Amino acid sequence: MALQIGGNCHYHPMRAGIGVCVECRQVICVECTTQFDGINRCAACLAKMSRVAPGKAAASDFRVASIAALLGVFGVVWGAVYWLVSLVAS
Ligand SMILES: [Zn+2]
Ligand SMILES: [Zn+2]
Repeated sequence: MALQIGGNCHYHPMRAGIGVCVECRQVICVECTTQFDGINRCAACLAKMSRVAPGKAAASDFRVASIAALLGVFGVVWGAVYWLVSLVAS
């Protein structure tokens, strides 16, 4: 590795640091480094950030809502098919 940051990972003392977290300025290894918008952040700071980041919870809410809607549509269609089949069978 050409670039010497100096010191090992703050979270893994046995691993060589490859970057510095822009938030807490701690040396972090390749496993701890998360590039977000091309900026190095450690896992702890990323977790802190994602907790306050807007849109993530809303996105999962939207997914749950769409699955519920899909199940509802499926139920209606299945009900219609079942009704038609029972109509034809009788
Ligand atoms: Zn950090
Ligand atoms: Zn590490």
